[in-house]
Amino acid sequence: MSGTPTEPAPVYRRVLLKLSGEALMGEMSYGTDPVRVREIAAEIATVHRRGVEVAIVVGGGNIYRGLAAAAEGMDRASGDYMGMLATVLNALTLQDALEKANVTTRVQLAIPISEVAEPYIRRRAVRHLEKHRVVIFGAGTGNPFFTTDTAAALRAAEIHAEVVLMAKHGIEGVYSADPRKDPDAEFIPEITHKEALTRGLAVMDSTAFALCMDNQLPIVVFNMAGGDNIDRIVSGERVGTLVRT
Ligand code: UDP
Repeated sequence: MSGTPTEPAPVYRRVLLKLSGEALMGEMSYGTDPVRVREIAAEIATVHRRGVEVAIVVGGGNIYRGLAAAAEGMDRASGDYMGMLATVLNALTLQDALEKANVTTRVQLAIPISEVAEPYIRRRAVRHLEKHRVVIFGAGTGNPFFTTDTAAALRAAEIHAEVVLMAKHGIEGVYSADPRKDPDAEFIPEITHKEALTRGLAVMDSTAFALCMDNQLPIVVFNMAGGDNIDRIVSGERVGTLVRT
């Protein structure tokens, strides 16, 4: 069991977990699977109990995909604001599940909705982490034309997270090509930011990746479906792909 005295001390003190909206979908084609959300919350709770400070940036793909038809033909910026609002719904879903797993949380939003959650205030977010609360960042960066990957890289740099944990759905890490399309795609266990950039590998979107590279922020790309992969990463096990300077 986690948290026992025999367990190794965590190798990270503060992590930024990027959860895509898809991670909350389970096997559904869109929407939120409550069973999956509970599993994710339990996994995060385990790591949190070990003393790791956890901040989360959540995506909106699971809801936004359902809205995409409605958004078709809309102005890009308007569609993006809808996407950011979708991430707010996911942030609240995750908050509820974490609190049910006895984890104290705070949601901070990049687009203030004062009746719902705190606005994003960097120093306050850091204080919450120090007080051992999980901080969930919603509404992405608050700006259209960005993604939640960029929000993850940005918040990680701001709060001095030691690593960005990029949770993937059904994919083990970074490959030389898209393993879903190319049977010869090779798994890459470790790579530098620079080489990943030169080879054009899909680690995260390019704006987000540039931010991580410029700030020498390590990234671990891993499969969330493993059940205890976050705990293993935090224990220092090699899981997924490590990207570092
Ligand atoms: N989005 C945005 N600015 C941000 C973050 C997100 O405009 O800083 C919008 C964008 O339209 C994006 C959507 O919100 O497609 C949902 O986020 P994302 O696609 O990154 O979620 P994920 O794929 O990780 O679930």
